[in-house]
Amino acid sequence: MAIRTWRLFVDGKWTEAASGATYAVPNPATEETVALAPDAGREDVARALLAARRAFDSGPWRRSTPAERARILLRIADAVEKRKEEFRGLLVAAHGAEAMTHGIQLDTPIAQLRGYAELTTRFTWDEPLTAVQGLTAVGMSKVQGIAHHQPAGVCGLIPTWNFPLYVTAQKVGPAIATGCTMVVKPSPWGPLVDLLLAEIIAECDLPPGVFNIVTGLGPELGAELAESPLVDKISFTGSVSVGKKVALAAAGTLKRVHLELGGKSAQIVLDDFEVDAAAPSSAGPTYFHAGQGCAMTTRVLVQRRRHDALVEKMAAFVRAFVKVGDPADPTVILGPLIREERRQAVAGYVASGRAEGAELVCGGAAPAAFAHGFFFEPTIFANVRNDMRIAREEIFGPVVSVIPFEDEEDAIRIANESSLGLFGGILTRDLDKARAIAKRIRAGGVSINGAVNLTHAPFGGFKESGIGREGGIFGLREFTEIQSITWPEG
Ligand code: NAD
Repeated sequence: MAIRTWRLFVDGKWTEAASGATYAVPNPATEETVALAPDAGREDVARALLAARRAFDSGPWRRSTPAERARILLRIADAVEKRKEEFRGLLVAAHGAEAMTHGIQLDTPIAQLRGYAELTTRFTWDEPLTAVQGLTAVGMSKVQGIAHHQPAGVCGLIPTWNFPLYVTAQKVGPAIATGCTMVVKPSPWGPLVDLLLAEIIAECDLPPGVFNIVTGLGPELGAELAESPLVDKISFTGSVSVGKKVALAAAGTLKRVHLELGGKSAQIVLDDFEVDAAAPSSAGPTYFHAGQGCAMTTRVLVQRRRHDALVEKMAAFVRAFVKVGDPADPTVILGPLIREERRQAVAGYVASGRAEGAELVCGGAAPAAFAHGFFFEPTIFANVRNDMRIAREEIFGPVVSVIPFEDEEDAIRIANESSLGLFGGILTRDLDKARAIAKRIRAGGVSINGAVNLTHAPFGGFKESGIGREGGIFGLREFTEIQSITWPEG
C-alpha cells in the first residue's frame, strides 16, 4: 500500500514544511511506517502564528456569532463521525489503540465537539453585575455594568498522543466555540489523527488563519509557541517536566497557561467492597491502553488484611483476560507502548520497584512472543510502600502498585501523599461515605465505583498535575478573558 505524505495547514492552505523535511510515523505494534508527517521548524511555527494573529486581530472571525461558531462545530463533529473508520484505522495503526479504548478515543470527542456547539449558544457572554450589599455604601450603586467574556485570543494548543482526538477536541472545541484563533502543535509521536482532523476543519468554513497545524519532531516547536509574544494562551497536555518548561517559557510574556499533566492516582478499596468485584478495575491500568492514561488509578490501596486476597484476584483476572498483541486484532486487550524509549523507561521502573523491595506478582518484562513492537507484559507489584519510586512517579505503562493501608484515615493519607493530584477512585457500597471521603482527596476528580463522565464534567489537576480545567462549561471558560464594562446608572 502506498505510504501517504501529509502536509501542514497554515493560513488556509496546505503546505510542506519550509525545509521540505518529513519523518516516518511508525506502527508501534509492527514498527512499519504508517505515513510520513511534515517535520516543521521554527519558521513554519512563526508563519502559522502570524496567520493566527492576523485572523484574530482584524479578520471577520472576531465578528462571528455564537450561532455561526456552533454551526461550524457541528459540521466538524458530523464530518468526524462520517470518517470515523479512518480515525479508527489511524488510532489502531499509529497509536496502538485497542478496541476496548475506542469509545473514549472516538465517541467521546464527537460528543464533546457537539457539546461545545451547544454551550457556545447557551453561554452567558455578558453577565449583569449585580450589586453586592455593603458595597453600595461606597458608591457602587451609582454604576451599572456587565462582565463580558472575550475570546482569550491566539492560542498555542499542544495536545498529546495517548487519546489524540479526545485531547485535541478538548482544546480545538472550546477555542472555536469562543472565537479564538489557534496553532495546533501535535505530539511528534502522534500527528496523524490531528492532521486528519485538520483535513476536516479545513472544509468547514473557518476563515483562513483561524486554525493552523504544524507537526514536527523537535521540542523547539512547542517552545516557540510558549515563548512567542504573538500567543495569548497556551493549552498544553503532557508530562509534568515539560509542563514546567512551558510555564517558565510562557512567563516571559505572562500569557495564560493551561496545563493538563500527569497523575499517580489512587483507588481506595473500602472494606465493604468484595475483592472479586474490585479486581477488574484495580488491575485496569495493566491492560487499558497499556496504562498510558493520565487519570489511571495506578496505586491501589486496600486494607492490609485483604491485601493478599485482592492481589491474587487481580493476578488471576489479568491471566484470564488480558490477551497481548497487535490491536489490529479486535480480540487483543493489551497493545504496545507508543515507542521503544517508553518501554525502556517502564522496564527501568520495574527494576527500581524490585530493588526497593516491592513484590513482583506478574509481568515485569517485554513478552518473548513478539519479534517487533514495543510490547510490555501486564505487571502487578504487591506490598508496595508509598515512598517507593513506583508509587511516587508516573510510569505510563501497564504497571499497578498495590499498597496496604491500616484504616480509612491511613488510606486517605496515602492517597494524598503525592506531588500529583489528577484523579482518584473509591470502591464501596456506602455512597455517602464515598462522597465524604472524595471531598478529602486532593485531586481534580474522584470516581466512585467506576463512574466517569468525560463529556461535561471538569477535568484537570490539583498540585503538579496541572493548572486549569477542560470539559464542558469549565473548559469553555478557560478560553475566555473576562472584561468589566461599567457605565453610570440611569
Ligand atoms: P511530553 O511532556 O513528553 O510531551 C508533550 C509535548 O511537549 C510534545 O508535543 C513535545 O514535542 C512538546 N515539548 C517538548 N519540549 C517542549 C518545550 N520545551 N516546550 C514546549 N513543548 C515541548 O508528554 P507526552 O509523552 O506527549 O504525554 C504523556 C504525558 O501526558 C503523561 O505525563 C500523561 O499523564 C500526560 N497526559 C495528561 C492528560 C491530562 O488531561 N491531564 C491527558 C493525557 C496525557
